[in-house]
Amino acid sequence: MNIEHWTDLAACKGVDPELFYPVSVAGPAQIQVEEAKRVCAGCPVTADCLNWALRAGEPAGIWGGTTPDERRYLRLKPLPAAPAWH
Ligand code: SF4
Repeated sequence: MNIEHWTDLAACKGVDPELFYPVSVAGPAQIQVEEAKRVCAGCPVTADCLNWALRAGEPAGIWGGTTPDERRYLRLKPLPAAPAWH
């Protein structure tokens, strides 16, 4: 396997992208959020994905196993150094 970028190892490759963009994080959409987070929990590049989403200020979707609200909370803290391959 030729790995050039962390996205090459993403566990969500081949998964319907709609799963990662629930219409809300409450009510029935909570089931979708939990399902997306389960995919992220088994992903080998969760830290890279979360780091990217935090640095990009990604406003929507599940990235690195986090919801937009969870990332807003995390952005209150200083970011760790970017991994070497960024
Ligand atoms: S952490 Fe989740 S959204 Fe990010 S690459 Fe992995 S499976 Fe995809």
